[in-house]
Amino acid sequence: MNAAVETNNLVKRYGDVTAVDGISLRVARGEIYAFLGLNGAGKTTTIRMLLGMVKPTSGEACVLGTRIRVGERKPWNSVGYLVETADAYPELSVRENLEAMRRLRPGTEPKAVARVIERLGLHAYADRRAGTLSLGNKQRLGLAKALLHDPELLILDEPANGLDPAGIVEVRNLLIELAREQGVTVFMSSHILGEVSRLATRIGIIHKGRLIQELDVDELERNRRRRLVLRTRDTEAARTVLRGVGFAADIAADGAIELKDEAAMERPDQVATRLVQAGQAPTMLNVVEEDLEHYFLRLVGADGAKPR
Ligand code: ATP
Repeated sequence: MNAAVETNNLVKRYGDVTAVDGISLRVARGEIYAFLGLNGAGKTTTIRMLLGMVKPTSGEACVLGTRIRVGERKPWNSVGYLVETADAYPELSVRENLEAMRRLRPGTEPKAVARVIERLGLHAYADRRAGTLSLGNKQRLGLAKALLHDPELLILDEPANGLDPAGIVEVRNLLIELAREQGVTVFMSSHILGEVSRLATRIGIIHKGRLIQELDVDELERNRRRRLVLRTRDTEAARTVLRGVGFAADIAADGAIELKDEAAMERPDQVATRLVQAGQAPTMLNVVEEDLEHYFLRLVGADGAKPR
């Protein structure tokens, strides 16, 4: 079966600015694919090209097996999308906005409106004018619109935008449920790795218009740097002991000893035993994983480190 989303060498230039610089990716049906990048990385431009809102400078985008051309109608009856702040009719209520959208989607039953209001937790706001909603609730309305016609593919630009922490969890659970129970494919962008790592089955990292890494969540766990952090009463003496048995022990800025050797991570008990034997029993010993944001910054080189 063809991919849900596929791009081949997709490029978009605006004058001197190359917003998207040769992106080739493939999202299989049923996946939750997170497109991750810092502000300005090219996420929205890619999504706009997928939706036929922006014409690529070169390359092609296919959605549900259809090559996308600006202005053509196919395949939007099977796709739900949300791009930047959702547009709504501000003078109409939430329910009326959804009803207007429903009429634009041939074949969508009237009861779909109540169903998405329920799903997105919008019942308390159903009769409020859309223009008076908070940013988070506008985002919920945008997601409700995207889901109205039971699409098989959702293309969502920063769906967590404006949501509070509880709202982020709700939307995450909703997307997971749609993927698991209805086989819906999700292609979403985000700039927060921690947010997508609990949701996505695969992550594509975009930086300066290029796809610099694609990985699944297990690989992400493996790629994160680990270190063994320990403290003793006499830091210098303990470091000498550890160096004496072949560990590259360093002292971190906070005074703790850090070991990055794989052997130390695998057998922290042996490290402890060595220290005890030398009369330098650890007062603390812990295997620490690099946090996700740091991993991401290391990868894109934004913390001063060179990209790998
Ligand atoms: P953000 O999270 O900030 O929305 P993004 O990853 O979605 O970032 P894009 O909005 O795709 O990034 O922008 C990528 C680059 O292209 C940026 O440098 C942006 O300034 C530029 N750009 C986007 N749209 C246009 C346009 N219509 N005209 C000129 N430059 C543009």
